[in-house]
Amino acid sequence: MHKALFLDRDGILNVDRGYVYKWEDIVWYEEVFEMIKMAMERGYKVIVLTNQSGIHYKKYTVEDVEALHKKMNEFLTAKNLVVNDWIYCAEMDSENRKPRPGMLLQAQKKYDIDLSKSFMIGDKVTDVFETDDKFKRPTTFLVKGEYDLSKANLKDNVRIFANHKDIVEELKKVL
Ligand SMILES: [Mg+2]
Repeated sequence: MHKALFLDRDGILNVDRGYVYKWEDIVWYEEVFEMIKMAMERGYKVIVLTNQSGIHYKKYTVEDVEALHKKMNEFLTAKNLVVNDWIYCAEMDSENRKPRPGMLLQAQKKYDIDLSKSFMIGDKVTDVFETDDKFKRPTTFLVKGEYDLSKANLKDNVRIFANHKDIVEELKKVL
């Protein structure tokens, strides 16, 4: 089985400016490059899991999201950074929409991932996956950004960090 570093997209890879879909609007958090590099070196798969309700709300299309992910992936590849997969959820009422675990379980199946040895990095309460007794959510690190995290359930391996840099420091210890 593999281990994985799961990354939310908006607010983790790039600044969340609300319904980002154009390459010109991508402002990277540079710390994420180090996160990915470290994960690769330590044998983790790197997988982006992102809610993209902007498709549902017709702010942009599936093609826009896929073109953006292709560009983002090319940019990372040029830095020798590998993201194994970009999984998104376009729907509001879907088992795949975080915090529901559809995308997580899809990735787990596809890449044979041990979730209990994996990590999820996000910036919203909804990046803490709902679980049941069938699986254990990955250790989850939330970064304080645009969103209120006061309602985050901090039990079960969920921690809040002040910024991306602090998460990098923690990942150095735990990955
Ligand atoms: Mg986010």
